Amino acid sequence: MADLDDDVEFTGSTGTNPLRDMPHMRHDCLVHPWPRPATAQSCAECCAKCFCYVCDGPASECKLWDEHCLADGSAEWVRKRAQAKRKREAAQRAQAAGRQVDSAEAVRQRFAAAADTDDGGAPQPAPDGADAGRPTRDEAEVEDEESEETFATYAPCHFARGQPHPEL
Ligand SMILES: [Zn+2]
Ligand SMILES: [Zn+2]
Repeated sequence: MADLDDDVEFTGSTGTNPLRDMPHMRHDCLVHPWPRPATAQSCAECCAKCFCYVCDGPASECKLWDEHCLADGSAEWVRKRAQAKRKREAAQRAQAAGRQVDSAEAVRQRFAAAADTDDGGAPQPAPDGADAGRPTRDEAEVEDEESEETFATYAPCHFARGQPHPEL
């Protein structure tokens, strides 16, 4: 009779089972059926397709799996999931903002590096005059200084001359 039991086992290896072969909540895992009682220890074991209900990512990437493995979709966990989502979105926004600053800085660094190369020990790519259209290091520096001066006079202008505020 043991053979018969094996044949009807729900987790048999034939066919595709969405709950086994597709990402699923640890709570729904068929490879490691939800233990009762559910404890941090008994739930921590998961399969490759288990995902963290709270982090909304693979369980293997969850940094709080000891805790999150217990998520069973109850109201308490729905709340934690929403909380984690808000946190993730805030972090993504902060990262996106940081990336913009980085890229502006990267552009300045590339510009400075290019200017250094033109003046540095690197072999000159063409004889004088052939690349007259490209800005030399000196020209680039002059451009920088010009834009700095523009900003320097622009920003503190009102205060330096002591003009009254038009609305005062
Ligand atoms: Zn699983
Ligand atoms: Zn998690």
